[in-house]
Amino acid sequence: MRLAFLGTGAAFSPERYNGAVVVDGRMLLDGGAPLLPHMHRCGVDAGAIEAVFLTHFHGDHTLGLPPFVLYRIFVDPRPITFVGPAGLASRLEALWEVSWGQDWGLAMKDRFNVRYEEAKPSGAVGGYKYESIKLDHGTSGSSGYRINVGGKILAYSGDTEATAPLDELVEGADVAIVEATGPGDVFSHMSWEAAIDLKARHPKTRFMFNHLYSGTVEGAVSDLEVVEV
Ligand SMILES: [Zn+2]
Ligand SMILES: [Zn+2]
Repeated sequence: MRLAFLGTGAAFSPERYNGAVVVDGRMLLDGGAPLLPHMHRCGVDAGAIEAVFLTHFHGDHTLGLPPFVLYRIFVDPRPITFVGPAGLASRLEALWEVSWGQDWGLAMKDRFNVRYEEAKPSGAVGGYKYESIKLDHGTSGSSGYRINVGGKILAYSGDTEATAPLDELVEGADVAIVEATGPGDVFSHMSWEAAIDLKARHPKTRFMFNHLYSGTVEGAVSDLEVVEV
């Protein structure tokens, strides 16, 4: 599979853009980065994204979406499905309305070829089978995903503490894109030390750490990095 890391930072990172990953040019995992220019730089066609998996609604994972949605309305109106936690449709429709006010309902909403699907324990979207696992993160939690990509299992955490559900998420996965926010005490997130321990507990899984606040840890990916795995 081909992974394009459009942004790899946490919300308050001065060094990196916020999180978003494109898988095989067809699937987007979270939408925090400046999606359109970063897709362009990574050779990704913004019109070809069929499925968007959202882990939670924090701004560093969603605020790149409004201009992307505008593109999918006025430039390339192919169908697209959003998968995410409970309340997905109302949370995203509220974001589109904040972005464009009354013009959203008047001129855009009906032209957006979208389907919203609240994440099930297991399901399929755009030909991809997935499982979702509820992870511990702040008051909202986060929906982690295990997605079958061409016979390989890709685990994606979004934001999470290093608690038992995260081990369940990455167990047996071929590739795991997991947050590692910073060293020491990182409230509601995973520390670098915990990330290294997690990797040691799952030696057959290839880990790629993102959502770094500052500095780096072994296994971290970089903004605009494209990786074949
Ligand atoms: Zn975050
Ligand atoms: Zn968060």
